[in-house]
Amino acid sequence: MIRLASFGDIPDLVLLNSLVHNIHVKLFPEVFKTGDENLIGSFFASLLQNENYAIFISRVDGFPAGYIMIRKMIKPESFFKKEVRCVYIDQVIVHPNHTRKGIFKGLLRKAEEQALSWGLDRLELDVWSENSSAVEVYEKTGFKTYNQKMFLSLSDRKTNPKPLVGVSSCLLGDNVRYNGKTKLNSVVRLDIGKSVEFYPVCPETESGMPVPREPMDLFVKGETIRMITLESGMDKTDVISEWIEKKLLELSKKKLCGFILKARSPSCAVCSAKIHEPTGVKTDGCGLFAGALIRNFPKLPIVEEENLQNEAERNEFIRRIAKNFHGD
Ligand code: SF4
Repeated sequence: MIRLASFGDIPDLVLLNSLVHNIHVKLFPEVFKTGDENLIGSFFASLLQNENYAIFISRVDGFPAGYIMIRKMIKPESFFKKEVRCVYIDQVIVHPNHTRKGIFKGLLRKAEEQALSWGLDRLELDVWSENSSAVEVYEKTGFKTYNQKMFLSLSDRKTNPKPLVGVSSCLLGDNVRYNGKTKLNSVVRLDIGKSVEFYPVCPETESGMPVPREPMDLFVKGETIRMITLESGMDKTDVISEWIEKKLLELSKKKLCGFILKARSPSCAVCSAKIHEPTGVKTDGCGLFAGALIRNFPKLPIVEEENLQNEAERNEFIRRIAKNFHGD
């Protein structure tokens, strides 16, 4: 059941809100404050009395399953811009126990109905770029991106130099994998990201391959190892090798202190890329970019991201990075 929220729903709105707010605090501590339940409750109470806002709550068997908070956004025409008339979705939250039950769609439908009753026919929202699963859900529902926020922290750059660490960019949340998805790794992005500056690299997209693209593996052909697509059998070895040669030159001019690479990738894996022998046997080995990196920078600490899930290995990697950074 989905209906307009009332004062009696405030404790459940606060509870649902905390599920997402706590994730935001962890991901973006420089932006979000730890929530105070009383203040958040008062915040909801004030919105419930504001005619420019509407909050719809969904309940399943009496338990709160999600809510959507929307507001009228009308900005007058200016010298540069036409009048803006839309409904802004400030928050939409579905309880993790109630995902894939159509609750998000139901809440969105309520927002659409409310927008039309306000005489507005456009919905807008913003979403954290790193939250690729939310972006995917919104896109599936028909939302289109028309603006992106960016930032550059000058204070970090001036006062807090950090070791530069190369990283497979899919691990940071970039949607560059063959299937168009990311492989966001929170240990890499959050735990290690606190103490380093990342230098993201995606050998496949940077060498000109599209997203999405056919999956590939490595195949032994005579004396060489070739990177070949699994459906149409196209040989991509020359394309990526040419890019690797240029990239190594670029990397030699950077003060890299370490590299974190994606496991099981024919480009990035350090020791877990699938290699097909002519006999049909599959063995594990180095991806083409990782292999070139190891040969050209033999002293650089290079790891697969899966090894960093282990605390002892993670600490050892950070220690080696710090050692390189301080030039010990
Ligand atoms: S594993 Fe490497 S090549 Fe594959 S998507 Fe990630 S960064 Fe790109």
